[in-house]
Amino acid sequence: MWRTRKMAQEGTWHGIPRKEIPWFPTVDVDKCIGCELCYVTCGRGVYQMEGRKSVVANPFNCMVGCSTCGVVCPTQAISFPSRDLIWKVERENKIFKLVRQEAAEKKAKQSVQQARAVAEAAAAAVTNRVKVEIAGEFGEKRFLVQLQDLVKGQPFDIVQLMLEVPTVQGSMERTPSFMSFQVTSTQYEDIGPFLEQIRELVRRNDLVWVSETKQ
Ligand code: SF4
Ligand code: SF4
Repeated sequence: MWRTRKMAQEGTWHGIPRKEIPWFPTVDVDKCIGCELCYVTCGRGVYQMEGRKSVVANPFNCMVGCSTCGVVCPTQAISFPSRDLIWKVERENKIFKLVRQEAAEKKAKQSVQQARAVAEAAAAAVTNRVKVEIAGEFGEKRFLVQLQDLVKGQPFDIVQLMLEVPTVQGSMERTPSFMSFQVTSTQYEDIGPFLEQIRELVRRNDLVWVSETKQ
């Protein structure tokens, strides 16, 4: 019997009601030594420990086709039906048309996730705020005015600008001063090209580019 995709939801296995598939473990209590490995291994809550024995409390939580607990049981106390049972269920229920739909959905979801990861990586790679530190003689150079001219009409700004002058006397005697500011984009754009224009301005003014730090 073909089952529609609508049935491929909780409590079903590729459209087949899970309770129609008798795939679950059976514990031979005489062989079970109560090591609890099956209880710890199964992530689906199939087992409970009752005293020193493992009990299959929720058989239909078992994943169809899984036999991990049986493989790891040290005393081979856990058994499963023959795999023929699963193949018979697959054939009789003609699950593969639905499996192909599920595979197509999985691929579509994966490609969306990959595209999102690429977009996030690209966004992370864009630098849109950098702290710059420069040093030199600022006295008569009108460097600030030139910075203002550079920003005009551009989607970038310079914020938190600080000029540190060790002494006014010293600055008149051309002692180096220290300036820091942050270069930012007002439209979340990559500031790389604009930063290069500032570097050029610093070079033209014989100032020293001390450091730049991505914020
Ligand atoms: S893994 Fe085997 S021996 Fe250990 S508790 Fe489970 S059934 Fe018993
Ligand atoms: S076969 Fe897998 S899913 Fe089923 S009970 Fe064992 S560990 Fe859990």
